[in-house]
Amino acid sequence: MDNSIQLISTDFDGTLFAEFENPPIPLPLQDLLGGLQAQGVKWVINTGREMSSLMESLAGPGIEVQPDYLVLVEREIHQRHEARYIGLEEWNTPCHRLHGALFERIHAELPRLSAWINARFRATIYEDAYSPLCLIAHNNGDMDAIHAFLEAFCRTVPRLSVVRNDVYARFCHDAYNKGTALAELTRRLGLQPRHVFAAGDHLNDLPMLSPAYAAALAAPANAIQAVQAAVRRHQGFVSNYPHGHGVADAIKYYLADRSS
Ligand SMILES: [Mg+2]
Repeated sequence: MDNSIQLISTDFDGTLFAEFENPPIPLPLQDLLGGLQAQGVKWVINTGREMSSLMESLAGPGIEVQPDYLVLVEREIHQRHEARYIGLEEWNTPCHRLHGALFERIHAELPRLSAWINARFRATIYEDAYSPLCLIAHNNGDMDAIHAFLEAFCRTVPRLSVVRNDVYARFCHDAYNKGTALAELTRRLGLQPRHVFAAGDHLNDLPMLSPAYAAALAAPANAIQAVQAAVRRHQGFVSNYPHGHGVADAIKYYLADRSS
């Protein structure tokens, strides 16, 4: 049975990209990804970022690689056509519609949620195009408590979920996350989870770090404990190297493993 890796899904911040390194995506990893793409392997950056901030970082000095697909805000799929990324409307339009209807249902509750948070924590609360309540907590301890509060609220609203990455959080529809978006790409490419590699470092990566979506799971050394534990639980590869160095290490591990 062919179980070669045909689709690579990498989180961006902390997994592929380390802002303080030069270049922020290690050259050996860029070479590895470019070489695999030349052989027909598809690569998706699967991130919580939105388009403009991701494009700004990818356009930075020392970055030559171009992913074939983007999953943005952990939900929207975009495909590269030459130098541009075009939204996959068959997926993004219902995604947008379902989020709009869901957020309409919780609109009246938002002042109460904000007041609860503001009474207890110093946190930044705002609305953007993707969530009526977005949050930046002062630290991870505060966020643990706020996250638990928001999750309890989500249990009272069918299909509502909260997606958290470090001290950041927002609401989403539970049908859309990095895992379900990766499954859709896998399906569209005519592949199976056994052909998919996925690497991430934080809580919002957990939905894609599952054998349901990818047989080859990986985390860099800097991944939070919950992510390392999930990857190990599924017999995945936790690198001793951080960030992109760890991703390159993991890809090489799986390529060697599967060619033998
Ligand atoms: Mg990350």
